[in-house]
Amino acid sequence: KYPCRLDKFLSKAGHISRSDAKKHIKNKRVSVNSQTQTSAQFSVNESDKVSLDSKDLKLIEHHYFMLNKPIGYLSTEAEANHPSALSLIDSPLKIHAAGRLDADTTGLLLLTSDGQWSHRVTSPNSKKFKDYRVSLADVVSDEDLLKLEQGLMLRGEDKLTLPAVTKRINQKQIVLSISEGRYHQVKRMCAAIGNKVVALHREKVGEVTLEDKLQPGEYRELTETEIASFN
Ligand code: URA
Repeated sequence: KYPCRLDKFLSKAGHISRSDAKKHIKNKRVSVNSQTQTSAQFSVNESDKVSLDSKDLKLIEHHYFMLNKPIGYLSTEAEANHPSALSLIDSPLKIHAAGRLDADTTGLLLLTSDGQWSHRVTSPNSKKFKDYRVSLADVVSDEDLLKLEQGLMLRGEDKLTLPAVTKRINQKQIVLSISEGRYHQVKRMCAAIGNKVVALHREKVGEVTLEDKLQPGEYRELTETEIASFN
């Protein structure tokens, strides 16, 4: 956001600490529009050219959001009869969803303009747990929970699902935490124990929890800590 203090700009664009930025400024290593600038408070505007040791620094700002996705919205581009969750977010940048939710799934959807970040969020290697509150058509037995936790075979696949964590809410509602993201995974895991998902709500991705006070369709920017939790 402009105008921006020079030390803050330097720290963000150069990926260094604020105190190192201040040091560099003091040591006359920083110039603005080709003039050495020794005041950390100097106000940088969008059109200014900031350099460290004659190397130009660019500030690429990204946006990061959490949305409580309403039912019926797609996490991708809009299609014939479904609006896109992207249309709910007000950002001048081009944003995309970091991961997918089915149209009939509600809850935590992460959105960003930062492709490298969303890659880290969704990469199978990151093994981040995703928590889903699952409402089922039939009663879930303790034996069913054990099967979900230990891993089971999904129809049409030849590899067991990875170990999962379950928590019972009541006879027909559980929280299921999985670290993979196979196609329709929660619904298919529940099908594999002979049950049927009637409502699915994502509560958490990695360390990021959907904020309680966000109503369906509402969103907020992620905090620095939340963003950094996927680094
Ligand atoms: N699993 C599903 O089946 N659907 C989702 O939207 C997310 C996980």
